[in-house]
Amino acid sequence: MNVLISADMEGVTGVTAPEDVHPGTAAWERFRRLFVRDVNAAIAGACDAADDAQVIVTEGHNTMRNLLIEELDERAQLIVGHHTTYVMMEGIDRGIDLVFLVGYHAPAGAVGVLSHTFLGKGLLDLTLNDETCSEGRMNAMLAGSFGVGVGLLTGDQAACADATRYIPGVRTVAVKEQIDRYSALCLPPAKTEAAIRAAAAAAVEDATAHRPLVADPPYRWSATFANPSSAGRAALVPGVERVEAGTVTWSSDDFATSYKTFQVVAMLVGVSFESPVFD
Ligand SMILES: [Zn+2]
Repeated sequence: MNVLISADMEGVTGVTAPEDVHPGTAAWERFRRLFVRDVNAAIAGACDAADDAQVIVTEGHNTMRNLLIEELDERAQLIVGHHTTYVMMEGIDRGIDLVFLVGYHAPAGAVGVLSHTFLGKGLLDLTLNDETCSEGRMNAMLAGSFGVGVGLLTGDQAACADATRYIPGVRTVAVKEQIDRYSALCLPPAKTEAAIRAAAAAAVEDATAHRPLVADPPYRWSATFANPSSAGRAALVPGVERVEAGTVTWSSDDFATSYKTFQVVAMLVGVSFESPVFD
């Protein structure tokens, strides 16, 4: 039983503010300890359910250097760093049987704690085949393209509701209830760790029930930006077409190719902002 845990930080126990997840801040130093606790709970659950569990944790936040490996459950291995092929899902090509999405968040435009889709600002809406595409959905689709299902998602209630939309029946653990993008009613780690561990164990126990999320090609993406200049930058990527002042589209029959195109668009737009005032 090979489990890949894709670990993001906005949906971690207690996290509610941008500085909580911003590397280098005192708040981030505090919350990276809670981050590893949520992840360790998921590792422990997988190992509770399967003696032979092999767990790879892949960092999914910012520059992918947040988790404290010295505090990571010794039964897991950790992929660190963002110069990878599959970004938040690096390792999905390593013979994985089941995926967990831990610490996830609602998409851009949704009322959820630190809601966004890759870019912390500037991306108003992202759709895949005409439906909102959160990080969770695109990563579940990428796993599906490798024949792997998602057994568990943790985050705020908005992230859990989002996951239930794109994967009906998926097991979720809400560690907090969003009040606003920057506030939430939070459960303490003593409660969330137990809930995550139990849900992870249950997900491994019925691993075969978690069928891969797949959809027929073509995979048509649309991204709308607050700043029209962002669309202009994005349209420099081969295959990406600017269809409105602030909107670009692209399409591919190969899911991984379409996913990588989004990654390039997001990276390019992310480094193209000229001014915090005019962005
Ligand atoms: Zn993140």
